[in-house]
This record gives sequence, C-alpha cells and structure tokens, in this order.
Amino acid sequence: MTNYVSASLRHLVVQRASGAYEYCLIHQTFSIYTHEVDHVIALKHGGQTSEENLVLACLPCNRHKGSDLTSIDPFTGRITPLFNPRTQVWTEHFEQERGYLTGITAVGRTTVCLLKMNEMNRLQLRQALSLQGLYPNFQH
Ligand SMILES: [Zn+2]
Repeated sequence: MTNYVSASLRHLVVQRASGAYEYCLIHQTFSIYTHEVDHVIALKHGGQTSEENLVLACLPCNRHKGSDLTSIDPFTGRITPLFNPRTQVWTEHFEQERGYLTGITAVGRTTVCLLKMNEMNRLQLRQALSLQGLYPNFQH
C-alpha cells in the first residue's frame, strides 16, 4: 500500500472531475487552496491508490472527511456510509439551491453534516458563484 499518487494518476483524477471537487462541486479555479487527491476508502481500511478509489476533493472536504467511511445521519441518528463519488451519483444524494447544499438521502445528509459543506465561508463563496452562474459548474 502506498499513499503516493503518481503525476499521471493525479492528472487522470483532475481531468475526470473536470477540475471540480467531487464532494461539494466547487471548481478548483475558485478555491484558494490547491486541489487534493483523496482516497475514498483510506489506505488504513484497505483502500488502494488506484483510479477507482481516488477523487478530487477540496481541502475543507478532505480535512473533515479524513479517513472516515461513515458518520451519524443527523435525522435518524443511525450510522450511515458517506457519499462515494466513484460509485454514486451526486444528484441522487444532494440538491443545491443558490449554493446551499441539502442531503436528500441518509448518505447525502450524513456527508453534508460531516464534511461541514455549509460552513459559512464555504456557503458564502458558493452563493457568490451561484449568482454569477458559476456554481454548480459541470454536468453529470
Ligand atoms: Zn469540497
């Protein structure tokens, strides 16, 4: 197991995501932080450094997610898996209205909550981009 992501693998992940972070969908152009390639299933849980297990994540999403695979659904109180951008479809789990993100499934709610997707500064940035037609910025 290795944490090292080769330049070619990193390039593939960025291209595949069209430069948009795959949890909160903000485009890296509008982020003050550089993109990060995140292991959906962390190495410590047996995840691999392979294209099937890598996503483009913004720094806040990545930091809040850490190596977690699950969290508590704020609605039901049940342990719930986090959204997996590789195997699940964003629009089936989330809605956004003028930059505000809402989980529409247990997976969506749990992910919005754990990754603090509506933290004030992040929400304000998405709201500003949304007003300019720059969020969300790519189609599935
Ligand atoms: Zn993000």
